[in-house]
Amino acid sequence: MNVIPIIIAIDGYSACGKSTLAKDLSRELAYTYVDSGAMYRAVSYYSIENNIPLENLKHHLEHIKIDFLIQSEKQHILLNGKDITTEIRSAEVNAIVSPVATISEVRAFLVEQQKFYGIERGIVMDGRDIGSVVFPDAELKLFITADIDIRTRRRCEELGALGIEYRIDEVKANLLSRDHIDSTRTDSPLTICSDAIIVDNSDLSKEEQLNLCLKYVQQVIHKKRETKSN
Ligand code: C5P
Repeated sequence: MNVIPIIIAIDGYSACGKSTLAKDLSRELAYTYVDSGAMYRAVSYYSIENNIPLENLKHHLEHIKIDFLIQSEKQHILLNGKDITTEIRSAEVNAIVSPVATISEVRAFLVEQQKFYGIERGIVMDGRDIGSVVFPDAELKLFITADIDIRTRRRCEELGALGIEYRIDEVKANLLSRDHIDSTRTDSPLTICSDAIIVDNSDLSKEEQLNLCLKYVQQVIHKKRETKSN
């Protein structure tokens, strides 16, 4: 595909395959990929490691530096220079990440960095407020959803692959609880943007989902070219 740099914003519920799709798209298009959820997880991990009560977290943000690093084609996340890629997937982080993401100061802190990543376009970012807050001018907005039992199974497989122990009922309860907090919080709740394309991938393979979304990318790029040449 002849690619021109656009912004692809991917939002949706927890564990519905947003990151997989975002990674696949970034590989196909040679775009930058940013997992914004990993950034909220990094802040949550910081608060656990340093015993910081959530109500005080906003006073500690200046001590938090988050970086992404590609190593052997895998994206790693660093917190103040320490690789915490696996640690941020723990049950402890899962339990507090959505409450942490309700803190407006945390959101403002991370959104500023996320907007900066998009300055040159040519980026795929996934999260909960990417189309609505981080990149309201994204050329392509996708809202991904899937059946809750399928999402639970996928998250369990992911945890298993990371060697993290889990209980299926706890994983499902955590997803439902995070969906609820994310959709009902006051600051930047998860919503479906009016200009987003909804993709339910319950019955789609990874490849089918990728091909479908690549078609949407092609359509957007085609339209952009036409507008430019007119
Ligand atoms: O995407 P992931 O499930 O790793 O995100 C973890 C949590 O971070 C979400 O449940 C949500 O509370 C928060 N989040 C957010 N806004 C984003 C990305 C993630 O509030 N853009």
